[in-house]
Amino acid sequence: MDLYEYQAKELFAAHGVPTLPGSVATDPNGAKAAAEELGGPVVVKAQVKAGGRGKAGGVKLAESPTEAREKAEAILGLDIKGHVTRQVLVTEASDIADEYYFSYLLDRANRRFLAIASVEGGMEIEEVAATKPEAVAQVPIDPIRGVDEATAREIVEAARFPASIADQVADIAVKLWEAFVAEDATLAEINPLVSDPQGTVLALDGKVTLDGNASFRQPKQAELVDEGAEDPLEAKAKAKDLNYVKLDGEVGIIGNGAGLVMSTLDVVAYAGEGHNGVKPANFLDIGGGASAEVMAAGLDVILGDSDVKSVFVNVFGGITACDAVANGIVQALGMLGDEASKPLVVRLDGNNVEQGRAILAEANHPLVTVVDTMDGAAEAAAELAAGK
Ligand code: GDP
Ligand code: MN
Repeated sequence: MDLYEYQAKELFAAHGVPTLPGSVATDPNGAKAAAEELGGPVVVKAQVKAGGRGKAGGVKLAESPTEAREKAEAILGLDIKGHVTRQVLVTEASDIADEYYFSYLLDRANRRFLAIASVEGGMEIEEVAATKPEAVAQVPIDPIRGVDEATAREIVEAARFPASIADQVADIAVKLWEAFVAEDATLAEINPLVSDPQGTVLALDGKVTLDGNASFRQPKQAELVDEGAEDPLEAKAKAKDLNYVKLDGEVGIIGNGAGLVMSTLDVVAYAGEGHNGVKPANFLDIGGGASAEVMAAGLDVILGDSDVKSVFVNVFGGITACDAVANGIVQALGMLGDEASKPLVVRLDGNNVEQGRAILAEANHPLVTVVDTMDGAAEAAAELAAGK
């Protein structure tokens, strides 16, 4: 889960990383009141889960509360990379002497963490890395040892932070690491980390991604979820306890078992190359049980996705045998009635496969095509999704 900037900075502050005070407003008058409360010049910042807000006109300086109201009026409703701004952060303005970059992230491929730091902050780090790679320091972090004082010094030196602020940056490095670990984050980024004309270093922006797999031990983080901004299909699937991930293709996928579903995504993507490049529309693992209710819940979520043009149901009968799954499919289609409106390609194999296929043949549902092999079914589903 990605956090909003204001949430990220609250989290930083709770762990001792210096930030500036501010508050969130959802309308222009609220922004004016927030500016009055803070006193002095403020920055009004769009709170959307996307980067590059500055360039998109989502970050504006305001000298007075009246001006803060005007800037909020301009920013609220602004579409930034497909995210509509519903709230702004009104925060004390800082004079900036220098902008830097600092982050921790999970380095999956190397099974460790990585500190990335640069004295060339402010703009997008990918751009700095591409044009001036020598200006971006990457320091691997041992997951067991973490970031102690010595590692913090190593990062500060590798990125060549000026000596005058080295102590402050090292302290921030240690505290940001504490926040990163305590909150089970996979990313904690400060861009820009700035020094003001007095030489004080603080985080002006914050980006944090929390590891959803750790939510069971982070009950407080449930408050950070913004239901309005969640993908509605993913929210629906979550409410039904389904293992669902929305993807950007056209072939809906249902399978039992994560491994089978993963390989189904591969065969569908491969088959799609021959059919207008259609791709899987989702990952959905209905697990071992595959009862009619679970099948109906899964189909309901997938058929609710307007991008879906066909559905591939790929089931390997094990403890729950194919006949039970076939009954589940028939009952699920009955439960959904007219809401089931897209062609289904079903491939069954494994335990009691013959009985399962017989049940589907008997039901003879107009939307259902049974194909015996996984590759054949992927081909059929891709062809249906491509519309030819
Ligand atoms: P982003 O564009 O989404 O990454 O948003 P940022 O929070 O990083 O803001 C973009 C830029 O606006 C920063 O790099 C700063 O140059 C500028 N900015 C943000 N906050 C302040 C502030 O308090 N004072 C000043 N002078 N500039 C700011
Ligand atoms: Mn930024």
